[in-house]
Amino acid sequence: MTETPWSSFSIGTSVLGRSIEAHRIGSRSAGDQLLLFGAIHGDEPESAILCQRLLGEKVTCQTVVIPILNPDGLTAKTKDNARGVDLNRNFSARSWKAEHPPGYFPGTAPLSEPEAAALAHLIRDTNPKVLIAVHQPFRCVNWDGPAEKLAAEMAAIIDYPSVASVGYPTPGSFGACYGVDGGIPVITLELPRSPVEDDFVRCVAALRHAANYVTL
Ligand SMILES: [Zn+2]
Repeated sequence: MTETPWSSFSIGTSVLGRSIEAHRIGSRSAGDQLLLFGAIHGDEPESAILCQRLLGEKVTCQTVVIPILNPDGLTAKTKDNARGVDLNRNFSARSWKAEHPPGYFPGTAPLSEPEAAALAHLIRDTNPKVLIAVHQPFRCVNWDGPAEKLAAEMAAIIDYPSVASVGYPTPGSFGACYGVDGGIPVITLELPRSPVEDDFVRCVAALRHAANYVTL
């Protein structure tokens, strides 16, 4: 039997006015236990596809899924949002700074962008226990905050490496804000550049494991 979300809603709108859609799946509880999002970078379309595939799965905890955090970027096939901001540098982490390498404009201030602000407000209001961001193309499971064990377990299911760092600084990133500063387990699941069916199957299994992990 295919599961379907029991609740769908908009968490806000993008710079160009597109709705950012969220869906709740899994056992209903007092609140969201797990939060998962994809396509914060618009040039990582398979991250959205993985999130959408999880919507049809039975999961054990109340899970909120946002397949497309950056709908303008996904439509335009650009990493950044419509104002040229890398949304994964726009969170209110202590490490946020205005100076940046070319291609990583962090915005004029933390949460200056409506897409990052919508996600931050949802997390503030619902306090999920575990946060998962889906990206491409590094083919690994990266973690921030107290998530090393969960990252290792997910990596074993997917057969990707589990890594403490993606190899370069990420000031103002989602993981820096919620994992490093906030002390919440944050997983960054990096699909390969061109994932095949086996990647999706294994990653869905790992995401279901994360839901179980939160439930335990
Ligand atoms: Zn990315």
